[in-house]
Amino acid sequence: MSARLVLLGPPGAGKGTQAARLAERLGVPAISTGDIFRTNIKGGTELGRKAQEYSSRGALVPDEITNAMVRDRLAQDDTAQGFLLDGYPRNVAQVAELDAILADAGLTLDLAVEITADPEVVIERLLKRAQIEGREDDTADVIRHRLDVYAEQTAPISGVYAERGLLAQVDGIGDVDEVTDRLLSAIGSAAR
Ligand code: ADP
Repeated sequence: MSARLVLLGPPGAGKGTQAARLAERLGVPAISTGDIFRTNIKGGTELGRKAQEYSSRGALVPDEITNAMVRDRLAQDDTAQGFLLDGYPRNVAQVAELDAILADAGLTLDLAVEITADPEVVIERLLKRAQIEGREDDTADVIRHRLDVYAEQTAPISGVYAERGLLAQVDGIGDVDEVTDRLLSAIGSAAR
């Protein structure tokens, strides 16, 4: 079985938590562009230095940087049975790039699963996370900007996948196990 999946949803919808659980259940790596950027920022790499200029203010990192990073990551052997992308694609141009990366390998995407959540709930969760994790992009102003960027650039992606018949939407409100079960049943019929 292979599972080539994209996880969509607003910041704070629980993508990271669910991605880790789904990856384990499906036996494919969870690939989070946000995590890769944060690891590089912590490690003081050139990529990290560039990414931080944008991520610290809640802006998207330029596509040329992000796309190259994802192309490299998807070329690694552990994606042979598939992958679960979290945080990518994040705008319509990245959707096209992912299509191209897959097409170059003779592959297609199985499904885009969107975790839906009310913006009010999301803001509350992010502010709580800020106190626990201390992420530099979890301040009230930056969160607001991330949500604006999401609404303008990322939310339209759902429509693109819906038109292709590749979108499943799952309610992200409820306990973590419950949401995982909903996601697994949405994915179950699409992963081959
Ligand atoms: P969130 O919790 O807002 O979903 P992530 O952890 O996914 O955040 O990403 C954190 C930051 O990393 C983003 O605000 C953005 O600056 C950068 N980033 C992550 N993924 C992408 C992407 N696909 N394209 C551009 N920038 C990205």
